[in-house]
Amino acid sequence: MSASKGKVSVEIRGVHKSFGALHVLKGIDLTIDAGEVVCVIGPSGSGKSTLLRCVNLLEEPEQGNIFVNGVEITDPDVDIDAQRRKIGMVFQQFNLFPHLTVTENLTLPQRRVLGRAPEEAARVAEENLKRVGLAQKASAYPAQLSGGQQQRVAIARALAMHPELMLFDEPTSALDPELVGDVLAVMRMLAREGMTMMVVTHEMSFAREVADRVVFMDGGVIVEQGPGAQVIGNPSHERTRTFLSRVL
Ligand code: ADP
Ligand code: MG
Repeated sequence: MSASKGKVSVEIRGVHKSFGALHVLKGIDLTIDAGEVVCVIGPSGSGKSTLLRCVNLLEEPEQGNIFVNGVEITDPDVDIDAQRRKIGMVFQQFNLFPHLTVTENLTLPQRRVLGRAPEEAARVAEENLKRVGLAQKASAYPAQLSGGQQQRVAIARALAMHPELMLFDEPTSALDPELVGDVLAVMRMLAREGMTMMVVTHEMSFAREVADRVVFMDGGVIVEQGPGAQVIGNPSHERTRTFLSRVL
């Protein structure tokens, strides 16, 4: 399969997903190369979150195949936990443990899921808090941080697991406008470092500037995709133009 060549990071083939009678994903084909940043845009309810959740098996497609770095994660015999470990996910809600310090939020999953020794987990936590500019908040509790800082902690927590792929689902949508920039700056840094990223976002200027490719979804299908300058700057489909006229 092409996914085993090492260049393709994610390959989504003919994926369908329904919730009861609601057909949400209607045949999605999408390939993400290693090191590529793909932004997924589209109206609310178009299936963006469901697609992202299929990639780390929070949802199971009823038809189609998904490969991550050459391994078919939709294979019923696959070790789901082992596959999920390779994928970092950041949600709109930060989901930090409120009763743990920032450092403990980063060390706990490393120890529980990866079995890292405490000293190693602490070292990796410190290194990743530095990366997101929050080393000085190591002993703080989530409630003592702004929303933007909490989201950067959530990103650092995902990075501490050394993922091969990062999925972001509207990571800035719950933030006050003045806090969005710091989170996007961290994501820009990751993109520059060559992290493979799939980002659902309403931040059109971020998508246009940072994404190697922008994917516009509507009604459970990919309507068009291409460089941001094309899809956002000069869309070829009426549905894309209508969506952009509402959000820009
Ligand atoms: P988007 O992220 O583009 O806003 P979603 O993928 O969240 O869209 O949702 C697509 C459609 O699927 C929506 O109509 C939503 O209500 C429905 N949906 C999503 N998750 C579930 C679920 N677990 N059960 C039932 N319906 C769902
Ligand atoms: Mg969503």
